[in-house]
Amino acid sequence: MTALTTLSNLSAIDAAHHLHPFSDMKQLNEKGTRIIARGEGVHIWDAQGKKYLDAFAGLWCVNVGYGRREIAEAVSRQMNELPYYNTFFGTTNEPATLLAQKITGHAGGSLNHVFFTNSGSEATDTWFRMVRVYWKTLGHPTKTHVIARRNGYHGSTVAGASLGGMKPMHEQGNLPIEGISHIGQPYWYADGGDLTPDEFGLKMARELEARIDELGEENVAAFVAEPIQGAGGVIVPPDSYWPEVARICKARNILLVADEVICGFGRLGRWFGHQHFGFEPDLAPIAKGLSSGYLPIGGVLVSDRVARVMIEEVGDFNHGFTYSGHPVCAAAALENLRIIEEEGLVERVATDIGPYFAAALKSLEDHEVVGAVDAVGLIAGVQLASDKATRRRFEKPDDAGMTVRNHCLENGLVMRATGDRMLASPALVITRSEVDQIIETLRAGLDHLRDTVSR
Ligand code: PMP
Repeated sequence: MTALTTLSNLSAIDAAHHLHPFSDMKQLNEKGTRIIARGEGVHIWDAQGKKYLDAFAGLWCVNVGYGRREIAEAVSRQMNELPYYNTFFGTTNEPATLLAQKITGHAGGSLNHVFFTNSGSEATDTWFRMVRVYWKTLGHPTKTHVIARRNGYHGSTVAGASLGGMKPMHEQGNLPIEGISHIGQPYWYADGGDLTPDEFGLKMARELEARIDELGEENVAAFVAEPIQGAGGVIVPPDSYWPEVARICKARNILLVADEVICGFGRLGRWFGHQHFGFEPDLAPIAKGLSSGYLPIGGVLVSDRVARVMIEEVGDFNHGFTYSGHPVCAAAALENLRIIEEEGLVERVATDIGPYFAAALKSLEDHEVVGAVDAVGLIAGVQLASDKATRRRFEKPDDAGMTVRNHCLENGLVMRATGDRMLASPALVITRSEVDQIIETLRAGLDHLRDTVSR
């Protein structure tokens, strides 16, 4: 840090000039931002030198952990060779091409094509346009409506925020746009009542069937959902849910879009979330773990069924970004995927650290203020409850979550709270002792909630 940018100086500059995403700016400027200065493995350090265990992998994305020199070197080599060229007008570059091959190799099945973007939100906009072009080209111009879920998250662009089911996002900017509607989420703890989880999973899947029938199959293009809802609170659907959704999409001839932005690249112990749940989507937006966040890159996996129409019949798809297939971002992603492969990180999540993480988190179910723990691979949601037996929630769910989150943060652990669910999604390289550390600090945070917030 130069003399000009002392810490307080930097905070003042930030408050004066930097508008932050998803932040109450007035509050933030009063409080000041934390300046994150360095990362290594699963740890980050702030500018004052305080060390944190980042149980959230940045924003669900730093799958290979911080401080990977190999990625920095691959990026530097590519920068020196070809820092930029577009993939429009009949050109490509080696990293983007090899990356498309590598990703589709891991996706398997008929997901043999990739369209590159710079983010998950752009991936959402890409498939949203693509499904409409697909049906129109096949002679079904009315098949335009897309069904999504309440409390789902698909990004922050106009289409992304519309497809997401977040009310506060809809309230800003007159969203959702036309041609999008939402059905319920498979959140058994909150909405399952007396049904068993599997009964409830079927019930929620059949909301899709009912909505398609209400709109008319001839008007519906696609259904989109995250295999496990991330931002919505790590909502793990009952086992009965996904097979029934896949059956309905097939029977009603609508495209199935699995948003793999969080679940992709090893988080669930498989390369992609849909593989964990045993179904195959027609399209799958990806981002985050694709480059472990080292550089921005995303994309859409496209099945043979859709790609055939886009390639053979559509002609020009008038869509793309200056940085689609950016050679430096692609080089970072390629190196990131090489690390995941060579270190066997996906298998490690499936057979070693994932089960350990799940068991460790499940041990918190004995705590008075924990209603249930959902954990798959290296993603988990801890449901806070004021009464376990009746699944009663805290009167002010957001306050309950923030109480635990802030206590964890003070004690060197970064977790996220969505309402009254505590979320964890650490790097795939986390060790057993680091998992133990998460549990110890989180348990102290839960004790603090029990002791300070009235139930
Ligand atoms: N889809 C899902 C499931 C996500 O979690 C996110 C980001 N959290 C997005 C899409 C949007 O990605 P981005 O922030 O890279 O635009």
